[in-house]
Amino acid sequence: MKNICDIVQDILPLYVDEVCSDSSRTFVEEHLEECEKCLETLKSLRKNAFEDNLIDEKENILGRHFKAAKRKTFTVGVITAGVLMIPVIVCLIVNLATGHALNWFFIVLTSLLVTASLTVVPLVVESKKLLWTSGTFLGSLMLLLATCCIYTGGKWFFIAAISVLLGASTVILPIIAKKYFPEHSFWKRNKGLLVFTTDTILLYSLIFSVAIFIKTTNFLFKALSITTVCVVSAWLFFLIVRYWRVNGLMRTGGALIFFGMFLSSINTIINSILEGSVLEIGYNFSVAFKDDWINLELSVICIAVGIIFLFIGLIVKPKNKNKSN
Ligand SMILES: [Zn+2]
Repeated sequence: MKNICDIVQDILPLYVDEVCSDSSRTFVEEHLEECEKCLETLKSLRKNAFEDNLIDEKENILGRHFKAAKRKTFTVGVITAGVLMIPVIVCLIVNLATGHALNWFFIVLTSLLVTASLTVVPLVVESKKLLWTSGTFLGSLMLLLATCCIYTGGKWFFIAAISVLLGASTVILPIIAKKYFPEHSFWKRNKGLLVFTTDTILLYSLIFSVAIFIKTTNFLFKALSITTVCVVSAWLFFLIVRYWRVNGLMRTGGALIFFGMFLSSINTIINSILEGSVLEIGYNFSVAFKDDWINLELSVICIAVGIIFLFIGLIVKPKNKNKSN
């Protein structure tokens, strides 16, 4: 009996799929009439086959539904684009009829491009929606700024454009790096560094574009000095918090000490720069110690707490090493 059961169990999958020969089928059916165990195997095989079919069917339905939803979204996008074309055509006609030349029409056109980038693009694009939407939005916004700038005869385009990019990069860059940069790539692992580098470049570009706009070298010197002091401080603070390879306590201590030093000196340094003489820094420091006592107290507290954190961190460190060993 045992040997026959083995043979029947081997044939059963073929029997369920109805691909075995007539003689094998008769052989299996005769055996099933007298063997409870093989009958059970047959039932479970049939149940599995049924479940597989059910899953296939479910996936088919979901796939069809998803495709239909996608088509619907695309259609809404195309209709929105069509609706946006109406004011474009109306303004084109009105502008030509009243002014006999196209001028403010381009402002309307570029404004509608901005609207389209936020409404039509996310509906029509199939993949990388965020990348396409933010890219076309920023691009059309630049066009709008340029058009307004030309129309009003101004020279402020670069100031406005760089300011917009500065704000946008802080919000959009980390998300784009997270979503679209290749896995384990350097900039994906260092999103903070990416934003800091981009913002530093944009900030200096902004200062130069303002300097060109107002045409005074005095401004450039002061703005560059103050910005550099603040940018270097921000970079140092960022590097301590993000890249100093010590335990959390020591890093907090280091950040607090640095912040205390920054707080105690920043007013003095900026005042000296504004008064135009680097030599006055020494004088301003002596004034600061008399006048700016709230700032000074705060910075002393920061530095003191920071030193305490550093020491605790130093004591805790060998303990952690023992644990990991
Ligand atoms: Zn059997």
